[in-house]
Amino acid sequence: MQTISCDVCRKKLDNPMGGRSFFHLGEHNICEPCRDELDLSIRPQIRGQDPYTVDWYDNLVNNTLVKAIQKGKI
Ligand SMILES: [Zn+2]
Repeated sequence: MQTISCDVCRKKLDNPMGGRSFFHLGEHNICEPCRDELDLSIRPQIRGQDPYTVDWYDNLVNNTLVKAIQKGKI
């Protein structure tokens, strides 16, 4: 049985299904609840961003994740 743990909340996931019960973001693995939290926390920043680019978005996700991993929550 394959087990991975979420990089943010450290919750263990058995038999993870990529894209469904956990997500790869860059070099990080995060669980679905943490991904939802991440979406919520970056949404207001996305709205205010002009110009909006994929690079900018990737950086935002990555920076938000790195901070979240340090804190242990989004
Ligand atoms: Zn998590």
